[in-house]
Order: sequence, then structure tokens, then C-alpha cells
Amino acid sequence: MNVLFVGAHPDDIETWAGGTAARYVERGDTVFFCVATNGNVGSSTIPKDEIAEIRKKEAQNGASVIGAELILLGFDDEFLIDSVETRHVFINAMRIADPDVVFCHWRNDYNPDHSISGFIVDECIHMAGVPNIKTTAPATKKKIPPVYYMDTPAGLNFEPEIYVDITSTFPAKVKMLQCHASQNAWMKDLFGYDMDSFLEIPARFRGLQAGVPMAEAFRPSYRWGRTFINHLLPDCLPARTVESG
Ligand SMILES: [Zn+2]
Repeated sequence: MNVLFVGAHPDDIETWAGGTAARYVERGDTVFFCVATNGNVGSSTIPKDEIAEIRKKEAQNGASVIGAELILLGFDDEFLIDSVETRHVFINAMRIADPDVVFCHWRNDYNPDHSISGFIVDECIHMAGVPNIKTTAPATKKKIPPVYYMDTPAGLNFEPEIYVDITSTFPAKVKMLQCHASQNAWMKDLFGYDMDSFLEIPARFRGLQAGVPMAEAFRPSYRWGRTFINHLLPDCLPARTVESG
């Protein structure tokens, strides 16, 4: 399968789905990391162009830990706006990845780049197959892929429906995040937390819910044209209480 993860910032995919991405790679799937913004406000001391360049390298290093293919969309950090132009760029990325399954941010995530990128993916995924919507890459020929929302920071405002056991891939997830050194320093600066606890506590908390040592949590986006007869996540575990709709 081709698996597409869309994150708002260069370290988001690794943070909320890195363990799952590693599991897809392990079983031979092709994984794409699509990053919407260039992260150019992610520092209190480094100028915008410079931090964008640093974060580009960090994103490349992070993706290369598991051999994911990186697609950088290059929008300005914290100013991702849903527009005709933005949608075309997203649709083009979806066509390049030609996914069988897609992951994006929860639509009610706290950060506007997160929620807006999730919104655009969820709104536009079917358009990747519409030939009269012209982008550089040709329209895909696959069925509309299922879309899964990734967890939120500290799991707030997010009720998971499905989990992936990441006990075996958690070290790879940590290694991926360690590549984002500039952000680990910035997060400590801005919010006062460190990367280790930011990764480990949610992984253990979601693991506790799923009945495994460590897990990542997701929920499907139920919309017409997407089927969820078999969830396309590696050995996924259902939530103990499943919401419908
Ligand atoms: Zn982010």
C-alpha cells in the first residue's frame, strides 16, 4: 500500500503517528510524509529563513530514519489558509503519494495549521481523482482512500476509536523526534516540557486504553465514499467503547 501522512509542521507526523508509520514500513508499505508548512516561526532566536532551512533538514533526517518519502508543501508556519491555491497544492501532493490510506490532523486540534490542514485533507481527498481539477501530477485512479485523524497534543479533545500497538516501534519514533532538535529546544522554551515525556506519557496512556504497553490513537473520518469494513492500520486494536458517526 501507499500510506500518506499529512502533518502541519515538520515534526508533527512523527509525534502523533511515527510509531504507526514505522509499522507500515516494517511490513513493506510505502510511506509518505507530507508537511504543509516550513516551520519558519519555530524559534525565538533564529531568523525565519534560517530556521526554515534547519527544519527542512530535520524533516529529511526524521523521515529517513524509517525511509519515508518526504513531500514539503512550504506554506508559512502558523498562516496556513484554506484557499483555492492551497487546495490545489494539497491535491497535487495527494496525487504524488497516490495513497490507499491517509492520516491527517484532527479537525478540532488546538493549532490552526493542524486543524486547517486536517480540514483540507478531509475535504479534498476525493478531488485527487477528478481529472478536470488540474495540477502538476495527474489525477489518481484509485478509489477514495479512507482518512484517519491523528491524536492531539496530550490527547485533549480527542476520543480515539482505534489504536495501533507501537511498543516495538517506539524507539524508532523517539529516534525520529530526536532529529527535530531545534523544535525540542523550542518546545521547552515555549511550553516548558521535554520531548521524552511528551512522547512517552501519551504512548503509555493510549496503550493503557488499548490494552498494550504503548499505542498511538486514531479515529476514522466517516464520509460517503470511504469504506471502513477492514481498517487499514497495522494489526489495529478497536476502542473498548466505539462511537458511531
Ligand atoms: Zn504542529
